Amino acid sequence: MESIWMKTYDRKKNPALDGDVDTEAAVIGGGMAGILTAWRLQKAGIRAVVLEADQIGGGQTKNTTAKINSQHGLFCHEFIEKKGVETAEKYLQANQHAVEEYKRIIREEDIDCDLMEADAYVYSSDGERLRQEADAAQRLGMNASFESQIEIPVACSGAVRFPDQAHFHPLKFIGALADHLTVYEDTPVTVVDGNHIKTPCGTVRADKIVFATHFPFINFPGMYFARMHQERSCVAALEGAGAINGMYIGDREDSLSFRQFDKYILLGGQAYRTGENRDGGRYERLKAAGETIYPGSHVAACWSAQDCITADDIPFIGRYASDRPDWFVATGFKKWGMSSAMVAAILLTDMICGKENPYADIFAPSRFSAGELPQIVKDSGKAVKGLTKRFFHLPDETLSALERGHGAVVETPQGKTGVYKSDEGAIFQVDIVCPHLGCELTWNPDERSWDCPCHGSRFDYEGNLLDGPAQEGIQLPFR
Ligand SMILES: Cc1cc2nc3c(=O)[nH]c(=O)nc-3n(C[C@H](O)[C@H](O)[C@H](O)COP(=O)(O)OP(=O)(O)OC[C@H]3O[C@@H](n4cnc5c(N)ncnc54)[C@H](O)[C@@H]3O)c2cc1C
Repeated sequence: MESIWMKTYDRKKNPALDGDVDTEAAVIGGGMAGILTAWRLQKAGIRAVVLEADQIGGGQTKNTTAKINSQHGLFCHEFIEKKGVETAEKYLQANQHAVEEYKRIIREEDIDCDLMEADAYVYSSDGERLRQEADAAQRLGMNASFESQIEIPVACSGAVRFPDQAHFHPLKFIGALADHLTVYEDTPVTVVDGNHIKTPCGTVRADKIVFATHFPFINFPGMYFARMHQERSCVAALEGAGAINGMYIGDREDSLSFRQFDKYILLGGQAYRTGENRDGGRYERLKAAGETIYPGSHVAACWSAQDCITADDIPFIGRYASDRPDWFVATGFKKWGMSSAMVAAILLTDMICGKENPYADIFAPSRFSAGELPQIVKDSGKAVKGLTKRFFHLPDETLSALERGHGAVVETPQGKTGVYKSDEGAIFQVDIVCPHLGCELTWNPDERSWDCPCHGSRFDYEGNLLDGPAQEGIQLPFR
């Protein structure tokens, strides 16, 4: 399902790497984080190349809602309580600086990417909580306010407003930056060994290597798989819904997000942990919400995406691991990857250039606090369940009972396999074991995909890789 960004932007792919290259910095992954980091490195005088498996922006960035925003939910009060004022202040400052940096770069480079300044709001039916959050944000230096009325028709007691945030067209933006960079597309990195990178079409030796692959795909060192999980949500572009000035999101997991793009209101919602969408129906529910809120509107595009969530809700930006001094990482953006990608680009460029950065400690991947333990235990529990499921879980269906247009784990003469029966009755069989770390995949009826409940890898019904951390498809079994 194509996002509104894909429908409204076209760009010719760059050629793949062809041969061997020696460079000062290699950035693996050409999403928002990778392109911004390479661009800032180049501006700082570092020779950088980008190695992108498919096409730039072709990962989660093509499916974002692209609010450029330092208001990451109602986090100020909670961060002060759980992490202390200094960490909360640094987190907010780093992201607000990132918002300003987008505006500056777009203005100075004269980038045509539909940038619009807009106030950001988090709405809630808990007025007390909103007032507390507005006070906390002010204490952290933000010019925030409590608003009792908002322009969108949702039931709430008001909202917290962050002024002068922004939104844009993410693919136009990174396309414009990439025009000034050395970017190799169709160049999947298969091995990284010290300062040497292997791809099917050549090798790169780099003094410094940045992993901007959304989910870091090297499991050891780093063990990012044990410290993050992935969550998806859906977006619908509503035409004929009128126009709004601000950007909105609710304070609950099931609440909706709103922003304007051109003649569309982008309505987001239906969040769930990747791998846990057995019953489906999420697009229908989102569309129904759109029709209720904006009667007479219709859906011009509908899509979904996923993001990595760390145990303490702060991204991992910095050294990949203590024994890999030349490797860097940017991940765990918690569905706030526009400002976080800019934070990463600034911070990693400073680190690579040997410059102090005031925010390095709070984003350092090596950090650990006891407060993260409950989430880590919860995530590990999910992973153990996904791993053991393939040994103890009985198949859901038999092949003959499987309805057209459905997928399920099926007992076949060769054993347990993943089967999708198309609307025309064609059968597609895949290995049900995730090649990342061996968990049993689950069927996602909305996307017609096989999703991993442990770490969020995804595959289409033919077995092709859609999302990492896995780096290969699920082979057809019993070949
Ligand atoms: C529904 C939804 C809405 C969102 N809306 C917002 C929003 O409004 N504002 C906001 O701030 N954030 C938002 N986010 C979050 C934001 O979209 C993401 O955090 C951001 O796009 C991630 O960018 P990235 O560069 O880290 O990853 P990606 O865009 O996924 O880029 C990673 C790239 O790495 C490449 N890659 C992977 N493995 C390899 C390899 N081995 N070799 C070479 N290349 C490789 C991939 O092909 C991909 O292009 C949203 C998220 C979701 C799920």
